[in-house]
Amino acid sequence: MEQTKKDIRALSKEELRSFFESIGDKPFRGNQVYQWLWSKGAHTFDQMTNLSKETRDHLQAHFVINHIKVDSIQRSKDGTIKNGVKLHDGLVVESVLIPTGTRTTACVSSQVGCSLDCKFCATARLKRMRNLNPDEIYDQVVAIDKESRLYHNRPLSNIVFMGMGEPLMNYKNVLAAIEKITSPEGLGMSPKRIVVSTSGVPKMIKKMADDNVKFNLAVSLHSAIQETREKIMPFATSFTLTDLKESLEYWYEKTAKQITYEYVVWSGINDQKQDVAALITFCSYVPCKVNIIEYNPIDDGMFQQADNKALDLYITMLEKARIPITVRRSRGKDIDAACGQLANKQ
Ligand code: SAH
Repeated sequence: MEQTKKDIRALSKEELRSFFESIGDKPFRGNQVYQWLWSKGAHTFDQMTNLSKETRDHLQAHFVINHIKVDSIQRSKDGTIKNGVKLHDGLVVESVLIPTGTRTTACVSSQVGCSLDCKFCATARLKRMRNLNPDEIYDQVVAIDKESRLYHNRPLSNIVFMGMGEPLMNYKNVLAAIEKITSPEGLGMSPKRIVVSTSGVPKMIKKMADDNVKFNLAVSLHSAIQETREKIMPFATSFTLTDLKESLEYWYEKTAKQITYEYVVWSGINDQKQDVAALITFCSYVPCKVNIIEYNPIDDGMFQQADNKALDLYITMLEKARIPITVRRSRGKDIDAACGQLANKQ
């Protein structure tokens, strides 16, 4: 029965080598299969043409290859593409291709639903169903790379873990996926072109620092005032700003990598001078930059994008404090592919 067979891509190269040894074959076959699975993206055992028919049948009898299926593709006027991705168990996640200038960025999901409860995010309304496996994350990247070549005549250049889910709540699998994405046997991408975005899980930020990771870190801050942050991101009651600060200092000490704070300004929530002042203080802890992102409405009355006056206040005060700031306009809004809109219409 298909379901009882193990997904072969859950095996490491070493495990594949041992498997072949255990059936009296050469361990080297494990390397060949690994290459088929990861660098050549084989979807079936029959594609592995340098293996004998007998070996392929043997693999077929023991394993399955659970590939994702891009089930729906929506293309925005601005070139953004949203993929609806069906997993082997029928669940669906979304990933987005974002073209900017000479770059193509893949925004990928790490969980089906999300572990956290940000009030302004559409994904938070879904129940967290499960974590994605490393191969399911990897496949999203491969699918977007293909689309980038097809529609924009260039390979994928950057990856952000800003799709559905909280990557640090699925840490092991996210790390395993990045390992494959960056390894020469996978996609060979530089970790410098990868950003993992977290709502701020202090314990895991420290763990990442200990693991000496090479990718970049973004933190969805949205408010540097504890009381306000708790209102809009209720998990912040347990993951406090004090702990977050401490973990970020630890991160910087170990990695010397500056941090990006993602920040949305909403009217009546964080649009006052005291909000900017608190952000400036928070920015003094470790080298960082602030990325102000536009709010993408998710049909909820509680949140409204602040007006330009409030944005100007942020820009003026942060610039005066010499904190690098970028203001990012949303992409793919017309197809619900912008930040926080994933899963909005399902
Ligand atoms: N859980 C991770 C990654 C997913 S969210 C994190 O929180 O960082 C990716 C980014 O989109 C985060 O910065 C998040 O705060 C932001 N976001 C969520 N909902 C949004 C919305 N409706 N409009 C704009 N940005 C939103």
